[in-house]
Amino acid sequence: MVEAFAVASGKGGTGKTTSTLALGMALAEEYDVTVIDADTGMANLLFHAGLDDADVTLHDLLVADRDADVDEAVYDRFGMSVVPCGTSLDGFAAADPERLRDVVADLAADADVLLLDSPAALGSKSAVLPIVLADRIVVVLQPTVPSLSDGLKVQEYARSYGTSTAGVLFNRVQPDEDVDAVADRAARYFGGATLGTVPESDAVRAARRAGEPLLAHAPTDPAADAFREAAAALDVRP
Ligand code: ADP
Ligand code: MG
Repeated sequence: MVEAFAVASGKGGTGKTTSTLALGMALAEEYDVTVIDADTGMANLLFHAGLDDADVTLHDLLVADRDADVDEAVYDRFGMSVVPCGTSLDGFAAADPERLRDVVADLAADADVLLLDSPAALGSKSAVLPIVLADRIVVVLQPTVPSLSDGLKVQEYARSYGTSTAGVLFNRVQPDEDVDAVADRAARYFGGATLGTVPESDAVRAARRAGEPLLAHAPTDPAADAFREAAAALDVRP
């Protein structure tokens, strides 16, 4: 059995891609983890995972006449299986988002945990499918009221497709932020768990520049500890 998570948020730049790889690496200590860049329009997980030169990507699996095998788009990286997505507009335009269903079903056969790095915007077919295909969503938010409001919409949207919320992951938390107050509010709004609070950290940006997930680049950074705690709080049930 596999449990699939969509790592989602209302807006871009909240840290979904960073979180997907960090949670993936933490869970890979115990489980077979496959990470998929399902943000097919604004894909950039490849830059975070040293896969800039990947030959075959998710786009090749989503374009019918490219005839690629799923295995060709799976790369062993940092103890995980990683399926990057291409960054070209042509690839996105030619992709049939519906084909993600079969890709995910194939990948699920060999994994305990699937993590789908998901698009920010709601509404389009390519944005909805990762959420539909997931068992639960992880909502990545900044600890502010506007961000909570975005997160609520994502939760409602996911619920309308039968996908529940694993919890909220607060990211880029500033030292002067009253995290407890925000977590209280999140508990009231979401009725779900706060999975963790990840501090703003220079190491996260340095990891991206190095093309490595945070847990590979700076495993002892406080942000890495926070992601490990969040991964444990997910209580995965493959
Ligand atoms: P998203 O996938 O939601 O668009 P990313 O994971 O790409 O977001 O993160 C957006 C930017 O914010 C990246 O440059 C990333 O390095 C930076 N970032 C994410 N989380 C943190 C953090 N905790 N501390 C500092 N920078 C962060
Ligand atoms: Mg992203």
